[in-house]
Amino acid sequence: MKILLDPGHGLNTPGKRSPDGQFLEAIYNREIAKRIVAKLQNKGYDAELLVPEEEDISLNERVRRTNEHCQTLGKSNVILLSIHVNAAGNGSQWMNATGWSCYTCKGQTESDRLADCLYKAAEQILENQVIRTDYARDGDPDWEENFYILRHSLCPAVLVEQFFMDNKKNLAYLISDEGKRNLIDVIVSGLESFCSLSFPFHEH
Ligand SMILES: [Zn+2]
Repeated sequence: MKILLDPGHGLNTPGKRSPDGQFLEAIYNREIAKRIVAKLQNKGYDAELLVPEEEDISLNERVRRTNEHCQTLGKSNVILLSIHVNAAGNGSQWMNATGWSCYTCKGQTESDRLADCLYKAAEQILENQVIRTDYARDGDPDWEENFYILRHSLCPAVLVEQFFMDNKKNLAYLISDEGKRNLIDVIVSGLESFCSLSFPFHEH
């Protein structure tokens, strides 16, 4: 199983920072993604960064890289996880939206099973934190959105929005050692439980 970690955005992406300008999403996403890759590799998984570059790489190119792995290894042997931090506003002021969430593209696919595993891990690990769920639409916890990278990747693919960078309390948690450790553990433990289940692959 090849696990691809996609750190959202690049250093040259406009916006994508906290209202006080101290927190840059691209830098944070890279730190978390790199630490997840290292942890997975230590556990013996074949994990790598989809975007080792610091600058923004187009969604088209991210999908191309992902699908190249899918063609080489078979799409049921690849997982794509895109790492982000959410924002409720346009970055000019502090907002109140809060919580951790995970997105899949629309419809029921292997990605939903992966999202379920991540939600279970989040509920166990992110104690006293808000987990944002969307049970109302289709009975599962993940949010469904046809994000380009989710819609066009051939393998199971999810996008994680790790709390809100324009919420003061969320930001304090995001940058704390405990917060970082827990966010990394959620992804690693969710991926581990997904990999330990061998469900038949469905057309994405
Ligand atoms: Zn983002």
